[in-house]
Amino acid sequence: MANDQHRSRELAARLTASHSLEDLAGRLQARPGCPQPNLGGSAQSPEALDRRWQAIAQPGLRQRLALTQAPESYAASIEHLIGAVELPLGLAGPLRVNGSSAHGDYWLPLATHEAALVASYHRGCQVIAEAGGCSTLLLAEGVTRSPGFCFDGVAQAGRFVAWALEQEDAFRAAAASTTRHGRLTGMRVSVEGDHVYLLFDFTTGDAAGQNMVTIATQAICADILARCPVQPRRWYIEANASGDKKASAQSFSTVRGRKVTAEVLIPDAVVQARLHAPAADLVEYWRMSALGGVISGTIGVQGHYANGLAALFIATGQDAACVAEAAVGVTRFELRDGALYAAVTLPNLIVGTVGGGTGLPSQRACLELMELAGDGNAGALAEVCAGCSLAGELSIIGALASGEFVRAHERLARVRRRKLDRG
Ligand code: NAP
Repeated sequence: MANDQHRSRELAARLTASHSLEDLAGRLQARPGCPQPNLGGSAQSPEALDRRWQAIAQPGLRQRLALTQAPESYAASIEHLIGAVELPLGLAGPLRVNGSSAHGDYWLPLATHEAALVASYHRGCQVIAEAGGCSTLLLAEGVTRSPGFCFDGVAQAGRFVAWALEQEDAFRAAAASTTRHGRLTGMRVSVEGDHVYLLFDFTTGDAAGQNMVTIATQAICADILARCPVQPRRWYIEANASGDKKASAQSFSTVRGRKVTAEVLIPDAVVQARLHAPAADLVEYWRMSALGGVISGTIGVQGHYANGLAALFIATGQDAACVAEAAVGVTRFELRDGALYAAVTLPNLIVGTVGGGTGLPSQRACLELMELAGDGNAGALAEVCAGCSLAGELSIIGALASGEFVRAHERLARVRRRKLDRG
């Protein structure tokens, strides 16, 4: 990242105004002797929490971070537990989904502190409801782990690949020995010099599956090391080619979790009544914003999938960091005989209704509120996530096309905050 020269000069001047160059050099030196109190590993007993709060030495904060559940509830979720951060939970919807997996009216529990977000998604849900709901299709499913193997020369690497290509049944059996619900569906190979990446693709039932595929891949790698006539010099369980927790160039050529598309056709009268601009104006804004995405180099073209997905992921116990890959996709708006056709396609909706954080008390309650907790519901949750993203796109594109975007944020955030500040 290169800074503009004026900005660089400004930053340098600001630094040297508060510190001489010698001071600055001193500040940047390593400082040995950092305290390392024993934080008690993953123990979640009340005594372990007491010990941590003694180490923090700010007892006044403890009440504000108090847990409402027994600390043991979080034993499989976190280390060094000290409390909980309360996040406000808003309700949008119901979102009507007419989908291949989801079919019904779904509440959207959204955990956020961004004012205007819930109101915006709710407005999108209302528009979709008035149009009879959105249609959603589950298009693909899979989660990848990509172990890496280092060899001495491409000849060795080639012999390794030739061997690995003949091991399909053995690899499938090794994976199956670790999970009842995960299934190895395929293997892709990528070679760079004498480095080999094996990309193992799995389905993971109703779990998001990151742990499941890691454990299954470990078993496959153990099998490789035990039987392969060409041993790698080194190997790693994940060589960073799986797309875990990052948007990547392969986002549209593979799937991570579930790939879903959602569409809706909205009469112009509904668009005008709810979004305060004609359908044609929304399409014109969408065209400019799509090109804005292209010229700024975004992966995919969309407005703000991350807003709704982050709030829904946090509420329902998904891994919030996976918004990095999930919030990638394409939004398209078109005029169809005067009506507005809107579609979103998200190839990386890595969500689950079992496993991970979905069993925690309040996160489970949010899944139950959606009637999507437990077995058999992950596909429907992914389709609801796509519908939620569509609702968000309709609302934000409506707000930008009608010129109401700034006013809505001012009204819902700044004005209310000023009132609070005044008491
Ligand atoms: P998990 O809770 O580790 O595994 C899911 C569990 O649910 C398995 O024990 C599975 O049994 C069981 N299960 C019961 N019914 C199921 C059903 N219908 N479908 C699927 N599984 C069912 O969760 P995960 O989804 O594999 O992993 C998600 C977690 O991994 C998140 O918390 C995430 O933060 C974390 N994560 C891990 C890594 C990593 O590399 N390890 C990376 C990123 C994120 P079986 O195993 O017998 O099938």
